[in-house]
Amino acid sequence: MEVALPEKLVSALRAVRSVGVITGAGISAESGIPTYRGKGGIYDDPEEGDRTIEALSAPTMRADPDRTWRAIGKIASAAGDAQPNAGHLALVEMERRVERFTLLTQNVDGLHRRAGSRNVIDIHGDTFNLLCTACAWRGPLADPRGIERAPRCPKCRAVVRPDVVLFGEMLPVDKLARLQAEFFQNPQDVVISVGTSAMFPYIVQPVLIAAQAGRLTIEINPDETDISGFVHYHLRQPAGVALPAIAAALSH
Ligand code: NAD
Ligand code: ZN
Repeated sequence: MEVALPEKLVSALRAVRSVGVITGAGISAESGIPTYRGKGGIYDDPEEGDRTIEALSAPTMRADPDRTWRAIGKIASAAGDAQPNAGHLALVEMERRVERFTLLTQNVDGLHRRAGSRNVIDIHGDTFNLLCTACAWRGPLADPRGIERAPRCPKCRAVVRPDVVLFGEMLPVDKLARLQAEFFQNPQDVVISVGTSAMFPYIVQPVLIAAQAGRLTIEINPDETDISGFVHYHLRQPAGVALPAIAAALSH
């Protein structure tokens, strides 16, 4: 599917030197990874959805790490089998074309990293990076398939966990500081929100503040969200269609 961008948007994009992008689970939907919310998402079932949130929470990780790991294992094995799609690759191309590029992602699937994006703030972490709950050990999640029990630390045998933000946990301060520096202290010419239901204030604010300051804002999402009414352009296209068109419209 080719997407024709509005002519005014194409000419605005030609003048753009710096780009900020915010992605959510929707960008990985075309790689076959289920989203959380939205049709067919992990939380779609009202009962099981709540149970998934509970399984992926800090108290469950402490009380019953095997249960948390079964839920993490499902997400990680879907991500491990998946490949970056045209949307992920278009963001790599964008980063090459502009002077400054920042990618803030809520995804924990590691697909932006694997696609080749460089300046990434993975604000919720990466399921494939593990750390020990007791000592300083860190290592990769080698095989996410069929996890039934919490893996153990090769050094001290304590439970290991993925370096992700579970429900009920704070965001990492170093990544929040980078978000502040890149989106607020030195704002970009355009801010693009892709495939997120825009539930978290720290995801919504960079878009709203850019829009209020009169900077160019774009949302890419087939559905309506809370920010749809505030952005200059809401492209109701899949990320894998709209992002390559935007990348192509940026001048070299
Ligand atoms: P979400 O599941 O709440 O929302 C997904 C959004 O993407 C929806 O608004 C949907 O309309 C849209 N969408 C679906 N298909 C799309 C497509 N092809 N192109 C563009 N948009 C599309 O996701 P969220 O806002 O990222 O918030 C959920 C939380 O879930 C985040 O914290 C994230 O860490 C986590 N999560 C991550 C993954 C992943 O790493 N791939 C998957 C599921 C959830
Ligand atoms: Zn250890």
